Amino acid sequence: MNRTKAITTVLALVMTSTATFLSADEIAKKGGKKTAPPSDMLTPLYYLPADGNAFRIEVDRFIAAARKESFHQPLRNAAGKSPRFGMRRMGKFGAGKGPGGNKSHHAAVDFHVGNRETNVAMYAAHDGRASTVRDAPKYRQYLAISKNVVAENGDILGKIVTLYAHLDLDQDEAAGLAMNGKMVRKGELVSKHLYSGTRGGPHLHFEVRYYRPHDKGTETFYGFRFPGQPTDLTHESVAPWSYGYWNLKVGYGFADPRNHGVICY
Ligand SMILES: [Zn+2]
Repeated sequence: MNRTKAITTVLALVMTSTATFLSADEIAKKGGKKTAPPSDMLTPLYYLPADGNAFRIEVDRFIAAARKESFHQPLRNAAGKSPRFGMRRMGKFGAGKGPGGNKSHHAAVDFHVGNRETNVAMYAAHDGRASTVRDAPKYRQYLAISKNVVAENGDILGKIVTLYAHLDLDQDEAAGLAMNGKMVRKGELVSKHLYSGTRGGPHLHFEVRYYRPHDKGTETFYGFRFPGQPTDLTHESVAPWSYGYWNLKVGYGFADPRNHGVICY
């Protein structure tokens, strides 16, 4: 292929990338093989052998109830289609998969759409109350949707918070989409703009958090670890905020979105 033809081909790919969508069947295929449920990243207390049985039982009850909530894929529109998205190796969920390449944890999945697209429609994974935050460390601007997890007997076991990070809320609001404080329905449009300046290119950092009823729900724990710290999940992070930290007292932890039926990769 000569150089002009190569450039033309690349341009054609760029131009078509905004128009290509995955059908519902293609999205289902992306789900891959059915295997055992992927592991969540829970509070280190959960994994500690000593003294944790009552706590583990409490958490297990919560998780069993929480996983009944089947999410709407955050990029899927009302017609059941998603724009073509990809996920880099470091953008997957799990311990040691942080984007920094230093075996830090990544408690979310990162969806990159097309060729660094920023005009990306995103939809509520579940019913709940939306809130928006600006100037958040690491996330910059994000939208969170919060919903209680209720047992069959009516007990409130805690809450699920899904977090859409690296958004451009200014552009959303300029376009008339102001979500702060609103109740949203599963599948409802919640944002139309990714932030263009995110490190590594625009992407949706989609995170699922679990909280106990008495947890304040501050968005201050994050799965990153300091370089040189143990990589297992039984240790609380002592990293400074620039790496985020994982505080034993804040919440249950982070769910792998696949445990809520979200097709990721
Ligand atoms: Zn991320």
